[in-house]
Amino acid sequence: MAAPITADQWVAALRAEGVTDIVEMPGWRTHNRNGVGAWGDVHATMVHHTAGEGSGLADWCYNGNSDLPGPLCHDFLARTGRLYLVGNGRANHAGKVARNAYEAVLNEQSVHPAPGPDELDGNAVSYGMECENSGEAGRDWPKAQYDVAVRVQAARCRFHGWSANSIWAHKESTTRKPLDPRIDMDQFRRDVAERLAHSASWNPTDSTPEEEDMTPEERKLLTDTAAAVKRIEAGMTVKPWTYKGKGETRDAYAHLLDIGRGVKGLSATGLTPAQSDALAKKVADIIAARLQA
Ligand SMILES: [Zn+2]
Repeated sequence: MAAPITADQWVAALRAEGVTDIVEMPGWRTHNRNGVGAWGDVHATMVHHTAGEGSGLADWCYNGNSDLPGPLCHDFLARTGRLYLVGNGRANHAGKVARNAYEAVLNEQSVHPAPGPDELDGNAVSYGMECENSGEAGRDWPKAQYDVAVRVQAARCRFHGWSANSIWAHKESTTRKPLDPRIDMDQFRRDVAERLAHSASWNPTDSTPEEEDMTPEERKLLTDTAAAVKRIEAGMTVKPWTYKGKGETRDAYAHLLDIGRGVKGLSATGLTPAQSDALAKKVADIIAARLQA
């Protein structure tokens, strides 16, 4: 059970969730269909595609037409990632929905079943976001657009204390719209759930270290080398060695410590793990050759 979010609360929630490119369409705060049907309590938030692309879609969402008067959604999300605030209150986006689909979002079930027959007034209980996409097979959602879509839905769920299983697609609510939209909704809900596991200000980056570039052989070599250095260090504390190379005499223990520091420092150089490993292997080979000499 939840009273709908107010206009001011919605703008604040979007900004907190990191949605920065927002266009408030004139009049959106009082633009709704409350005069012709129920609005609230709300229990769900729906994702749609526009089934068409191009300029003028925000106006189309705002106005609708004589058969289907606007607002046709609460938010319109362009392919650029720009979000237009279109309506506040009952909107003409879902139409009739299946009871089993509604119960899945109402009860936040992890499984969203194939929808049965249209029975209920979806516009009374669900927010709706339209996303600019032709709906043609293979037509992508640009990364910027998808990212904002996740943030918008996370903002609604976070405000109401809902899980990501309060999100449904139009295609999940009725058999009338089997491709609306084409994206994988389970993945989309997982992406929103991951956001909800963090604070609203969370900004994941693409620079995750690719540590798994290391092969098992490389990882074993590094582990073995570290173990060997530890054994050598332990030996050094008992019996200092000297190292002779290119005419100079150095304390081998200090030399190894220098190498150890150098290897540790590699992680700060911006080298990939694979490059660090290659260098570590060279160092290990040099140590082995000199200890055998
Ligand atoms: Zn739709």
